[in-house]
Amino acid sequence: MVKIENLHKVFGKDSHVLRGIDLDVKAGEVVVILGPSGSGKSTLLRCINFLETPTAGTITVDGLTVNAGKATKEEETKILQIRKKTGMCFQSFNLFPHMTAIENVIEGPVTVLGQAKSECIPYAEELLDWVGLSDKRDVHPSRLSGGQQQRVAIARSLAMKPDVMLFDEPTSALDPELVGEVVEVMERLADEGMTILAVTHEMHFARDVAHRVLIMDGGDWIEQGPPEEIFTNPREQRSKQFLAHIL
Ligand code: ATP
Ligand code: MG
Repeated sequence: MVKIENLHKVFGKDSHVLRGIDLDVKAGEVVVILGPSGSGKSTLLRCINFLETPTAGTITVDGLTVNAGKATKEEETKILQIRKKTGMCFQSFNLFPHMTAIENVIEGPVTVLGQAKSECIPYAEELLDWVGLSDKRDVHPSRLSGGQQQRVAIARSLAMKPDVMLFDEPTSALDPELVGEVVEVMERLADEGMTILAVTHEMHFARDVAHRVLIMDGGDWIEQGPPEEIFTNPREQRSKQFLAHIL
């Protein structure tokens, strides 16, 4: 579903942040990415949906392959298609403050896909119900808790019917008591077969929901494997050191 080959990202002249990343994520696979601050986790996710322009390498999402560095019209078209196929949720929920929950959820289908509002509303209502927020349909973000805002943000991403969901520390801005409701939504998404790449410190999600855990440092993988292996028996010294900090 997502295939990355030899991905590099260089910021400015010499800030070589991603150094030849390879990653192959199967449809329905749930992958958790861990690693020290500054190791390149967010940059990787942002390259996958082209919020950052990769410097070199190829990215394939659902059969569409983009070669970094090739700025042809054809590549641009593929980038737009990949953006529609990849939902992304960030640490900061980034809802539109002047729009109600339902207006936020239909925003993508209306502005990006050109659908009529009336056409999108039933599915948007279904999604709000699915994240447990039917009763907040007409409420603005400022009157929602952080956990509720993040659930609206997830519903908003799902409204685009993405093939893959990217999560970048979706719970790290939340008060501890609100983390569970967002993780629960991510778990249900995983149960329903969504392909997920998540950068998260939620160890329950990493241990019990992820199929595979990858540890990044210095812009490449240190090691990867099933959670039970990575957490109980990491092979690399650098992984052991990192895991000792977070576990
Ligand atoms: P954290 O756990 O703190 O979120 P991270 O693993 O997500 O860290 P990134 O945000 O991907 O790390 O950053 C990796 C490196 O790239 C850092 O050194 C950062 O300073 C640099 N970087 C990220 N974005 C930019 C940018 N737009 N311009 C220049 N350098 C950047
Ligand atoms: Mg980050």
